[in-house]
Amino acid sequence: MLFLKKSQIGGCNELGPTNGDKSLDDRYNAVVVGTRCIASDLQRLHIIVQGIVQGVGFRPFVYSQALRWGLTGFVLNNSLGVTIEVEGTAQALEDFQRALHEETPPLARIVSLTAKSVPVRHETSFVILHSETGPERRALISPDTAPCHDCLRELFDPADRRYRYPFINCTNCGPRFTIVQDVPYDRHKTTMRVFPMCPACQQEFDDPLNRRFHAQPNACAVCGPQVSLLIKDGAGQFCATESHDPIVQAAQLLTTGAIVAVKGLGGYHLACDALNAEAVQRLRQRKHREAKPFALMVPDIESARKVCTISDAEAVLLQTRQRPIVLLRQHNECPVASDVAPASDTLGVMLPYTPLHYLLLSAFTEASQLDHPVVLVMTSGNLSEEPIVYQDNDAYERLSTIADSMLIHNREIHIRCDDSVMRISTGSKQFLRRSRGYAPEPIPFPCELPIPLLACGAHLKNTFCLGKGQQVFLSHHIGDVENVETLLSFREGIEHFQHLFDIFPQAIAYDLHPEYLATKYALDSAIVPKIGVQHHHAHIASVLAEHGLMEPVIGIAADGTGYGTDGAIWGCEILVADLLNFERVVHLAYVPLPGGEQAIHQPWRMAAVYLARTYGDAFLEQDRVFVRQIEHPKWRVLSQMIAKNLNCPQTSSLGRLFDAVAAMMGLHREILYEGQAAIALEVLATRCPDPVTSYPFVIQQGTPATLDVVPLIDAIVKDITQGVPAERIAKCFHLSIAQMLATACAEVRQQTGLTKVALSGGVFQNQLLLEQLITLLEEMAFEVFINRLVPPNDGGLSLGQIAIAAAQLRNRIYRK
Ligand SMILES: [Zn+2]
Ligand SMILES: [Zn+2]
Repeated sequence: MLFLKKSQIGGCNELGPTNGDKSLDDRYNAVVVGTRCIASDLQRLHIIVQGIVQGVGFRPFVYSQALRWGLTGFVLNNSLGVTIEVEGTAQALEDFQRALHEETPPLARIVSLTAKSVPVRHETSFVILHSETGPERRALISPDTAPCHDCLRELFDPADRRYRYPFINCTNCGPRFTIVQDVPYDRHKTTMRVFPMCPACQQEFDDPLNRRFHAQPNACAVCGPQVSLLIKDGAGQFCATESHDPIVQAAQLLTTGAIVAVKGLGGYHLACDALNAEAVQRLRQRKHREAKPFALMVPDIESARKVCTISDAEAVLLQTRQRPIVLLRQHNECPVASDVAPASDTLGVMLPYTPLHYLLLSAFTEASQLDHPVVLVMTSGNLSEEPIVYQDNDAYERLSTIADSMLIHNREIHIRCDDSVMRISTGSKQFLRRSRGYAPEPIPFPCELPIPLLACGAHLKNTFCLGKGQQVFLSHHIGDVENVETLLSFREGIEHFQHLFDIFPQAIAYDLHPEYLATKYALDSAIVPKIGVQHHHAHIASVLAEHGLMEPVIGIAADGTGYGTDGAIWGCEILVADLLNFERVVHLAYVPLPGGEQAIHQPWRMAAVYLARTYGDAFLEQDRVFVRQIEHPKWRVLSQMIAKNLNCPQTSSLGRLFDAVAAMMGLHREILYEGQAAIALEVLATRCPDPVTSYPFVIQQGTPATLDVVPLIDAIVKDITQGVPAERIAKCFHLSIAQMLATACAEVRQQTGLTKVALSGGVFQNQLLLEQLITLLEEMAFEVFINRLVPPNDGGLSLGQIAIAAAQLRNRIYRK
């Protein structure tokens, strides 16, 4: 652990990040007021601490440490972070600084600490001063955090004055990002400003030795936010109830099969009993969400074990204070209604992450039958495709056709923030969506940005990325930017981040796809220069940035749709890439995407394309179920479109090849969300216990080389015809793709000598493919890197865009 040495005092020193883990209470017990020393020994230090240091109990921590080491001076919050002046003996100052690093409060994260000596002032006490507002903003905002153990204990303690109070929190836990309107982080700049504290809360707030000292959302039942329950009247309007305990009443409604909208931290959830098949189906119908899985909430880890198999790493991830949704394998005899996650063998499960959730789940447990696991569906409160609802008026309007009742509260949500989604993959955690609990914590970045930058991200699963200096902020999940609501959320999110972190970009990076709304936003903005970044280069760059890789690597980018530099739709690309540039060395052989976007929703089109590529139009004569189902007139129209090159862009998408094989096997002729057919194929493959061998494929030499899957399609057709079990075919197909990519990598290594491989792109959400490919590459002595801090899908794209833009700008500067 680094700390300042006496000899270093006087200059400026930058120290690395640290994290402490002791509770504040432990440390307060250790407070000792030091003895005063003689004046001539005194030194004084001016210290600036930057990072997540506001609203996390940092000033009381500093106060207690100053008392402990007998120092005088002051501490205050300002727009830079925390400023401290301390005066005492050299030894006491050194002890104090060591403690700053080694005993940091749980939610604090020190990014930098600078100290310089200043003239002594001979003060007699140490004080906490009022916040200063300054011109430059560097302070970070903590993500929202689940209740700490101390708050949970008080929540369920009948003797505590906050017994069953749904908004209990302290400096170690509670809402942050979703209630902050401005910095510095003070109550009057949060949505808690409308709740003046009662004398008891104010006393805690003012006491430096209290766990709630300057806990900005501090509140109790006397002075703070309240919940209420709205129930539909005969005319379908929500009306307030005179309920003695709205949470208990909501829980009782849930046991009767009702759908309850629940206002949470970053938006509304729609809740129902996950064991009640009829309620789950009704929720699907009303939400117009026909197939995408619903997330679940269970009261505790023991309940989670009743529905899913949970490894040690998964248990840790479920219980982490960020409380993501964790994808888990469900038990064979899982009692959860099958409509929760149709045709999937995994469930997305989370534990409660607000006091209100804890109370609701506890009341639901009491109201449920004894022998049943307690599981609630907790899916985003929105109509299909729209962003999660977070404003009350919007909720009454948009959720009125879905929910039977609403459990609401009067603390405003300032910014919407969806739940994060994670899983344990190849032994470590991986994001599928990085949002609540993680945003807006900065992503560690390997180098300094030459100027402030904004990267606009992609079309689906959008996030944006804003950075200056060495600080890079990946936004919360914005969603699929394909309607007015999401575009508005994207624009508002950018404005909010710019304001909070005082970053006004001087260059803007965007995806090359001309039809993406995020791209149009970049092109219409006043910011110049504008830096177009190829989609798959950005995927690979996101891995390079995460791992601080500055040298060229072999990058495998595999996904559904990404605009290529030749105007084709790329999606299975092997690049030789660094942050500055890339060369496309191998790709999946092009096939037409008949009808463009329509082909994504109708995998049968891709199956027909691949069959026609393999057998010509003779495939129509094959006597197989899939071929018999093809409507010949429809195919004739499509094949004419292909022949005339009408709305049939060329594609090398791996996602579409998965769609084609799934459709050929009769899994999904049409799909309701992108990736649905591929997920079905993966589920099937994981059910095959036997070892399999790869189907044949051909790597056609060239610049770039192409991967030809005609022999593979032919082999699959033969297996289908011969009645080989579908599970086995699906597993062979996965292995073949892994084998094909690994073999191509070996050829690239022969030509380039490169031994590091970076994997990214939405197709690598396929765990089976990812594991098979990593195993093969490692057997071939490659060093493999994957995304761990951002999602491999388009949710991580903006990080890659900002890294590339920074490298290219820096290079132009160097060239001058
Ligand atoms: Zn707490
Ligand atoms: Zn109060």
